[in-house]
Amino acid sequence: MIILPDWLITSAQDPPREHWGIRFAGDVIVDVAPGADLLKRYPEDEVLNASGQVLAPGFVNAHIHLYGVLAHGLPLDKAPSGFWPFLEDFWWPLVEDRLDSAKINAATDYRCAQLLSSGVTSFYNCTEAPNALPGVLFSQAEIVHRWGLRGILSFEATQRISEENGQLGLQENADFSRACKTGEGLMGGMICHHTTFTCSPEFIQQAYKLAEEVDVLLHAHVSEGAYEPEYTQKTFGKRTLQVYADLGVTGPRFLASQCVQITAEEIEIIASSGTRMSHMPLSNCEVGGGFAPVPQLVEAGAVVGLGSDGYIENFFEVMRGAFLVHKANQQDPRVMPADLVWYLATEGGANSLGLKNVGRLEKGWQADLQLIKPTLPTPLEGHNLYDQLLLYCSAADVHNVWVAGKQKVRDGLVLGADWDRLRAHTREAAHQLWSLT
Ligand SMILES: [Zn+2]
Repeated sequence: MIILPDWLITSAQDPPREHWGIRFAGDVIVDVAPGADLLKRYPEDEVLNASGQVLAPGFVNAHIHLYGVLAHGLPLDKAPSGFWPFLEDFWWPLVEDRLDSAKINAATDYRCAQLLSSGVTSFYNCTEAPNALPGVLFSQAEIVHRWGLRGILSFEATQRISEENGQLGLQENADFSRACKTGEGLMGGMICHHTTFTCSPEFIQQAYKLAEEVDVLLHAHVSEGAYEPEYTQKTFGKRTLQVYADLGVTGPRFLASQCVQITAEEIEIIASSGTRMSHMPLSNCEVGGGFAPVPQLVEAGAVVGLGSDGYIENFFEVMRGAFLVHKANQQDPRVMPADLVWYLATEGGANSLGLKNVGRLEKGWQADLQLIKPTLPTPLEGHNLYDQLLLYCSAADVHNVWVAGKQKVRDGLVLGADWDRLRAHTREAAHQLWSLT
């Protein structure tokens, strides 16, 4: 099949190409060229004329908690007063510890449809639900598989509940990752532990060894607020990334999400070791965590992806967050230009997750595609395309989506999504979660 848009984004590191198109067969892109050349080369092909539209790589949401939607609107007496109270008084007792597989599955079903509707074709999910073990990843995976998304699932192992629960969490990750490696399809696994303040150094090293053994990445939330570096300084006499470096964990096998409260030395540890990082600008605001030094990390050469963290899911909003908060924080409108944010939202995210041939539209790369149909009051041109799409478009402008060459959104409709049913199930799960005491 050939798609002929007005504009083609092959990689956000390159200028957009006017009247170029792609040809894909099965799950792979087989040709990228000016539209007229494609028509000449393949006269028998089916052609989708996407006039007035922009063809771009599908977004990679590099960090999500699929169940997070259940916390939207959860009744609270007052907002938590900082990152630690956010966890201790809100997230752990009222959300994580109350989750079971049925609630997680209802949220997963709704979220998968929502991801597709906003142009997301790949994601990494971290499930935090100590009382849903074992088997929670396998039942989530059935739902993700049904929607046909490219998903990496992990369970956040923690010793916060008990040693036994921590071991169950690691086992869940290992079992699921191994099952993905032997199975066919778009799913993958990762080993995951929570933080240095909920997992002992021995537990973290065990998690890392397991990741080596299964040959997948190890993920952790790192210095999401000031609490963790204060804890590591008090407990180990050093900052969080130095703890990880001394444990032998930093490097290309480690995905350190958040990295909000980190120093220049820690940026250097991330960049020089090849540690991967993911950035969640909107949830950093939500928890009052601070500003992650993402412009500095990118400048230092770190591998950085972009994620929603299960908070505000419209990926255009997440991109706007990444585009705007650093300009205000650094009092410099030149930082985080639109093409860089697009890169983090696509190829950067794929790199942070270790996904191969995902995030660009080039020959031999995966056919993970989105057609965006902007309705703008000013001209869309090569010089402003990344800015116009990032600032003035939204999920509602995502017109068609393909994952691995299979169409998932057609003319703005997510195929197979009964939104009334999906919302009703999610509302019911939220109602049950909120009414537990
Ligand atoms: Zn998170």
